[in-house]
Amino acid sequence: STLPPPRTRIFKIIVIGDSGVGKTCLTYRFCAGRFPEKTEATIGVDFRERLVDIDCEKIKIQLWDTAGQERFRKSMVQHYYRNVHAVVFVYDVTNASSFRSLPAWIEECKQHALGTEVPRILVGNKCDLQDSVQVSTDVAQQFADAHSMPLFETSAKNPNGQGDGSGGGGNSDHVEA
Ligand code: GDP
Ligand code: MG
Repeated sequence: STLPPPRTRIFKIIVIGDSGVGKTCLTYRFCAGRFPEKTEATIGVDFRERLVDIDCEKIKIQLWDTAGQERFRKSMVQHYYRNVHAVVFVYDVTNASSFRSLPAWIEECKQHALGTEVPRILVGNKCDLQDSVQVSTDVAQQFADAHSMPLFETSAKNPNGQGDGSGGGGNSDHVEA
C-alpha cells in the first residue's frame, strides 16, 4: 500500500544581530554549504531554506535573514516575528559593539512575545579571525548563561579552520562550547 507522503513541517528560525556580523553568510553557509563569494547588504527580509532529515521525517529549516536598518524593520517587523520556532542572536567576536547591542535585540524579541519560552541560541561569528578577537569566550559565556542561552562560537567563512576539521554531517558551522 502507498501512504501519501507526510506534509513537510517548516521550522522558522530568525537570525538577528547588528549589520555586518555575518547573518547572511551564516544562513548561506547552512543552506548552500559554502561561504558566499560576495554578499550584498540584505535588502528587506530574505529567507533561505534547507531540508533536513530528523527521525526519518523531512523538516524544512527556514532561516530568516534581515537587514538591520530601522526604516525597513518598522514596516516588516510584524511579519518577521510571526510564528517563530527559534531565534539565533549573532554578534561578531571581532566587534565589541555588536556584542553590546545584544541586550537591545533580546529586548526587541521579548516585545514581540519571543521570550525564554522560544528556543534561543547565541552565536559569536568570525572565529577564524583569532588575532582580532574583542569578545572573549568567557565574557560571552557569562552573558549567554545570564540569558539562559547556549553559546556557539562559529565561523561562516572557515568552519573547520581551528578544530577537528571534520565538520560532520553537512552542518558546517564550527562549534566550540
Ligand atoms: P550581515 O550584515 O550580518 O548579513 O553580514 P554579512 O553576512 O553580509 O557579512 C558581513 C561581512 O563579514 C562580509 O564582508 C563577510 O564576508 C564577512 N564575514 C561574514 N562571516 C564571516 C566569518 O565567519 N569570518 C570572516 N572572516 N568574515 C566573515
Ligand atoms: Mg545581511
